Amino acid sequence: MYTSNSFARNEVQALSGYNAGLSIEAVQEKYGVQRVAKLGSNENPLGVSPKAIAALTAEANNSALYPDQNCSLLRTALAHKLAIDENRLVFGNGSEDLLSIICRVFLDHGDQVVTILPSFGLHIIYPQAAGAEVIGVPMGHDMRIDVPALMAAMTPRTRLLMFSSPSNPVGCALSGEELQYIIDRLPAHTLLVFDEAYFEYAHGESGYPDSLKMLQQSGCHYVILRTFSKAYALAGLRIGYGITSDPALAETIDRLRTPFNVNRCAQAAAVAALADRAHLSASVEHVRTERRRMDQVLRQHLGLQPIPSVANFIFFPSPLAVPEVNNALLREGVIIKPWLEAGYRQFLRVSVGSHEDNTLFLQALEKALQQ
Ligand SMILES: *Cc1c(COP(=O)(O)O)cnc(C)c1O
Repeated sequence: MYTSNSFARNEVQALSGYNAGLSIEAVQEKYGVQRVAKLGSNENPLGVSPKAIAALTAEANNSALYPDQNCSLLRTALAHKLAIDENRLVFGNGSEDLLSIICRVFLDHGDQVVTILPSFGLHIIYPQAAGAEVIGVPMGHDMRIDVPALMAAMTPRTRLLMFSSPSNPVGCALSGEELQYIIDRLPAHTLLVFDEAYFEYAHGESGYPDSLKMLQQSGCHYVILRTFSKAYALAGLRIGYGITSDPALAETIDRLRTPFNVNRCAQAAAVAALADRAHLSASVEHVRTERRRMDQVLRQHLGLQPIPSVANFIFFPSPLAVPEVNNALLREGVIIKPWLEAGYRQFLRVSVGSHEDNTLFLQALEKALQQ
């Protein structure tokens, strides 16, 4: 019997969907609450830079025209900021788009991808969709990336080593020594996809490496992925970029990109957001201050053991059954992300939001623990 599903390729039939967070509207309706703290998707509580709003509003007038397929203005601005050849940049409709493109460009049936567990879902879904086998290497006992185990997982079939640092969901990051360990052992046939979606938050934390500089000196083949969705607060516009080891790699990736994948408003807003350094540093400062406060309350007041984070979220083992805590929080209008991945289902991830939303979360959690 043919079902709709049977028309799909085998790899697609076997896939599970991406576990996206709940929306504010869905929670308002289902739980009958007015005020919702949306702390499930790592969004920036300061909102869009006013300068980016002005730029995207002005650009909206040109919406009848196709966007610049090369993202030229943004390309030049970013290349200048990063001090690199602008032909090493690739742009995506969010860095998710680049993850998808990279998997379609580089992966074939029978290839392997090595990543870390717990994982950012798309680091597994897109490779599997391309017919590749994913090897997930669990965090060490200290809940840091187990770099020796990661490199021991490499085989002659490993085409991509792809993971996030800072890690989403854990919040820990590689040290310079750990990155060097990887660089020294990366097989010549393996492309490193180093997802730094939370770079701006971690940059400047003690021990956080200058990954671009280290990789540039390494001779490895790599793509560093960064995004305007997190610290730059443009998640709704969808724009991310990759820094490749050389222009030829960028050109190869561009072959499977839809030509107009980044829209006009996103390009204009990103240029303005990049220039608004005050808004970026206010966003980063806010997260540091609030993360410290949340960590302290979780640790000292509620007796929990949050994993130290350099990103804009905190991962912590749930004190009670996860569905119970999650439902108790939702009833109070608090959305967080229960982690639905084998081996890590006792964990919750909460984003660092506005001061008020974070307080609502901490109070709702305390209430849930008292019941
Ligand atoms: C949020 C996130 C992304 C996706 O970012 P977009 O640019 O919004 O697509 C990619 N990687 C990781 C690890 C993330 O957490």
